[in-house]
Amino acid sequence: MKNQEGRSNVLLGAIEAGGTKFCCAVGTPDGNVIREILIPTTTPEETMRQVIEFFLPQGGKLAAIGVGSFGPIQLNRDLPKYGCITNTPKNGWVDFDLLGSLQSAFPIPVALDTDVNVAALAEVYWGTAQGLNTFVYITVGTGIGGGALVEGNILHGLTHPEMGHIRIPHDKIRDPFPGICPYHGDCLEGLASGPALEARWGITANGLPQEHPAWSLEAEYLAMGCVNWICTLSPERVILGGGVMQQRHLFALIRDRVVLLLKGYLDAPEIIHNIDSFIVPSSLTGRSGILGALALARLDLKFREGTFQEMA
Ligand code: ADP
Ligand code: ZN
Repeated sequence: MKNQEGRSNVLLGAIEAGGTKFCCAVGTPDGNVIREILIPTTTPEETMRQVIEFFLPQGGKLAAIGVGSFGPIQLNRDLPKYGCITNTPKNGWVDFDLLGSLQSAFPIPVALDTDVNVAALAEVYWGTAQGLNTFVYITVGTGIGGGALVEGNILHGLTHPEMGHIRIPHDKIRDPFPGICPYHGDCLEGLASGPALEARWGITANGLPQEHPAWSLEAEYLAMGCVNWICTLSPERVILGGGVMQQRHLFALIRDRVVLLLKGYLDAPEIIHNIDSFIVPSSLTGRSGILGALALARLDLKFREGTFQEMA
């Protein structure tokens, strides 16, 4: 249904649930955000009370709510903890039933996925992945995570991908830093997330000058990650977002390393001749999370209405 300006009259709720803040928005299926608020992530009770208060005035008019959440989250509908946050260092949030708390406040469809899976959806609807069937969206920020669209579907599988926790070669002579992942130490996230950069060099990532040796090491690690995602998922594009990727000089370093590491093995013109448009920044800088949550609500609605045929 459209109004006189050709915009949709359908209203959707969107929640980008993060470890430091929840961004909530009301918008339309074409990605137009009408109202938006930031709520600090404190205790689940306090944060969720504010989230629900935000949506209440329009609650009755919303057709669906989409949630992109930090995680890991349980996305297997057959398990009792479906919709819960499973592991997190955030106090009080372990096993919190995020989906249930929203569902009991709003008797409308509430769709939940990971923050990076919904960011990938935003990219295919409105960003750098329009027209693609298979690609990865990676965030390099407080953590490292990845979402993938594979042959037009969001990849879930067993639970959901945890692309930041892959193991990569770690030359402990060149880089004696042990890594900061509480589970794995020197997985990719443990070595190359924003907080890992800060812990290794003693300066916040955005305070490291461009000529600092931090960046060639960072590019090396991220290139190894890219090679692994490229070889396992065969993406048509790799989109890198998140705070650390605001350091735009990293892109050239990463692209060069990826080509070197692949050693000409993959016979794809996109990689051999066109790597600048193969490994790219997000064009939705800072907005892919909240737009992704909106995209997930839209996708959920389409599925329910049986009109799903537009994504890829
Ligand atoms: P989150 O991952 O929590 O959603 P961000 O994607 O903004 O949030 O990532 C935050 C991390 O990115 C922090 O470790 C911060 O130091 C780092 N960061 C933010 N901006 C920049 C920048 N311009 N350059 C390098 N690192 C940055
Ligand atoms: Zn890890």
